[in-house]
Amino acid sequence: MHTQTLELAGGTPGLRHSLRVLHFGPADGPKATIQAALHADEVPALLVAQALRERLQRLEAEGQLLGRVQLLPWANPLGLAQHLLGHHLGRFDLRDGLNYNRGYAELAAAAATRLHGRLGDDAAANAAVARQALAEAAAALTADNPAKDLKRRLLQLAVDSDVVLDLHCDGEAAMHLYALSPQAAWAAELGALLGARAVLLATDSGDSPFDEACSRPWLLLQQAMAPHPLPLGCFSATVELRGEADTRHDWAAQDADAIVEFLRRRGIVAGRPAPLPPALCEPTPLAGSEPVTAPAAGVVVFHRAPGDLVAAGDVVADLVDIDSGERHALTARSAGVLYARCATRWALPGKRLAKIAGTTLARTGPLLSP
Ligand SMILES: [Zn+2]
Repeated sequence: MHTQTLELAGGTPGLRHSLRVLHFGPADGPKATIQAALHADEVPALLVAQALRERLQRLEAEGQLLGRVQLLPWANPLGLAQHLLGHHLGRFDLRDGLNYNRGYAELAAAAATRLHGRLGDDAAANAAVARQALAEAAAALTADNPAKDLKRRLLQLAVDSDVVLDLHCDGEAAMHLYALSPQAAWAAELGALLGARAVLLATDSGDSPFDEACSRPWLLLQQAMAPHPLPLGCFSATVELRGEADTRHDWAAQDADAIVEFLRRRGIVAGRPAPLPPALCEPTPLAGSEPVTAPAAGVVVFHRAPGDLVAAGDVVADLVDIDSGERHALTARSAGVLYARCATRWALPGKRLAKIAGTTLARTGPLLSP
């Protein structure tokens, strides 16, 4: 294992933030990047990263790594330090309110200008050139504040990877993940290994989250560079490791084992893959995911828990008016798995209280939570 420490630029004089990257395996071969808690208050990811570090060290010592794995055991040092009056706030940059997992540079156009005249008829050779072009485009990014520098560094580290796993969690949730629609088969495989209850797919979730900044350029380059053959060279997923209070050693071990098995299936870890466990869900479109939102302020009383199957019309929660005591039943419009719900019980109007992996809605615009 080789440890790399990167200093983030643009900070306050006297205050330094650094990023830790653990490198495992040979310098050549396929490359995987796994990062934990880009939303720094999503703590289960930090625990799974420790279980992964143990496994990767052991696999490296046994000569079982056929490619490179870089692990960022805490991907957001800025967010880890953000505490306000006793509360840890790791999702948004307190400086400007921007989400740490939105607004990543979209590199397809810059890579495309580097690719003109350089592609032929060999898809694998084209992929190698495109990977290099994406790395060059990322290397040219600039930043003028610590959060932008963090985003730039994370993308530079990951963009030439074959596999990118961004480990997060939700408020209270069942295991679920997000990936690119054309990569449904691999997303379903990862979902089956992790025991995911929802696998949510989109070609453009909106606002450029980290996972899509790594995988989506390949889709755009495939279109821009036609008729030259180009595979989707990066599988990327955002893995939601249940709820924010779900830190358990047995679950962390189980999740890390599932991720290692996924890397084995991608040819990064040696050995014959074990049979795939039965999938607990089919992938569904992110556009069909229903946010159940509070129409008014009130106290939230849930009737359904993460992992529950709901039918259209089922009451998901009551919202209790604190002047009149009246109960407003909030019902599901879609049938599907309730895969996440908020971790607090006081709602202001518009708050997303729960999410259902449905198939009947066709939402447009930004599809992710703010
Ligand atoms: Zn997150």
